[in-house]
Amino acid sequence: MEGMNLPDLNAAENETSYYLDKTWVQCESPACMKWRLIPRREFEGCDRDQPWYCHMNQDPLFSHCSVPEGLFPKISQLQEFGLTLIYSKIPVGSLVLVKAGRWPWWPAVLSPDPVSAEYMEEDSEGDVLKYHVEFLGCPHSRLWTSARAVQLYRAVAAEPKNLKVSLKKSYKVALEEAAKMERATCEERLQLCLFKPQEF
Ligand SMILES: [Zn+2]
Repeated sequence: MEGMNLPDLNAAENETSYYLDKTWVQCESPACMKWRLIPRREFEGCDRDQPWYCHMNQDPLFSHCSVPEGLFPKISQLQEFGLTLIYSKIPVGSLVLVKAGRWPWWPAVLSPDPVSAEYMEEDSEGDVLKYHVEFLGCPHSRLWTSARAVQLYRAVAAEPKNLKVSLKKSYKVALEEAAKMERATCEERLQLCLFKPQEF
């Protein structure tokens, strides 16, 4: 499971108490992927190696995938409360899983954009907004994506349910590539990327 803590603040209690001592967790159902706010105690009681799904939420109002995400704060609201979501910066060349559109979490490498040679986009505070990723599989493809849709790679045990037949072959190739790349260094992985800036 993935969790995201918001910092505890000394700001006015009525404004921040809703977020205090709570953790955002993401439903791992490929069709859902919504973020839910749960008490930090509940998060700490979960087995982090196991996936988390909406139905495990003890808050009955948000315990089903069909319930809209709704309360995930907008960046502007967080700023209003003096809160920030921090995505840790992942180094270029890292092996990651990316959630794009209706695809399942898909193995990819953080790689420089062939045109701009940048691999991440930061806001004025230096926090990561977006990453450039190269998807593994056949064929490779590339995308700028929200930092929220990127997590460090961990071996995927089984093929996701409901994987479209048209994606099955590419997914299998992607997993094979990822398995080989797991032991490689970031630099070695960048050499294996197909989309490269000219001077790279
Ligand atoms: Zn869900």
